Amino acid sequence: MWTYQHSSFAVHQLAALSDNYIYLIAPHNSQLLAAVDPAEAEPVIAVCTELGRPLTHIFNTHHHWDHTGANDALKSSYDCTIIGNANDAARIPGMDVQLQPGRPWSWAGLEIQIMDVPGHTLGHIAYLIEDALFCGDTLFGAGCGRLFEGTPAQMWQSLSSLASLPDAVQVYCAHEYTLANLRFATGVDSGNTALSRRLQTDADKREHGQPTIPSTIGIERSTNPFLRPADASFCTAYAEGAGIAADALSVFTDIRKRKDHW
Ligand code: ZN
Ligand code: FE
Repeated sequence: MWTYQHSSFAVHQLAALSDNYIYLIAPHNSQLLAAVDPAEAEPVIAVCTELGRPLTHIFNTHHHWDHTGANDALKSSYDCTIIGNANDAARIPGMDVQLQPGRPWSWAGLEIQIMDVPGHTLGHIAYLIEDALFCGDTLFGAGCGRLFEGTPAQMWQSLSSLASLPDAVQVYCAHEYTLANLRFATGVDSGNTALSRRLQTDADKREHGQPTIPSTIGIERSTNPFLRPADASFCTAYAEGAGIAADALSVFTDIRKRKDHW
């Protein structure tokens, strides 16, 4: 488990399944404790026991089983309250509180922004709490989620809204995919020195058993090939090489397709 301090809460990061991360959000001024996207119950229960605090809430970003798989088990252990997108109420097990994306929500005295980020799934949301972003399978370290339900245009808009957050926002995504993503990225963005530096730093972290996550919006904006289409000179150069139109959406769509077949 790794712990990160924010001004009003701590974030505990737990590894689950083969490459998932579950996050526990522990506000400093309350006894509430939330798990974001619990893939498995055992690691969550172990940390709750260690912290001496019961789990009171579950925040789900989307309905996939590797994000909601422990909802029922944790609810029967702790009688916790399960939160998710109202649009996905039928697909998220045990949902109690239906959020409206775009409408602010407050929890444990914290203002939480519920961002509507369709693309990977249509009901995907992200939770922004101060400078901590819990973005599930929308934005990854140097990558983005596959388009299972949404269109490239929807995903591009979702990623653009995340990319517009301040540089220092910490990106707590749900999978450790960064190294493979960076290797793919070097193939589409070879002249990017920030990218080659990141590959070194993150490869070193993995060699030492450390997570590459959280990253930051600033790091993602400069190195993530799925955000780079926002950069006009990258966009033009990529479009020229690929023989496609030089607009950000066409370039994003082409890179996403290339990654699917990589
Ligand atoms: Zn997913
Ligand atoms: Fe996932």
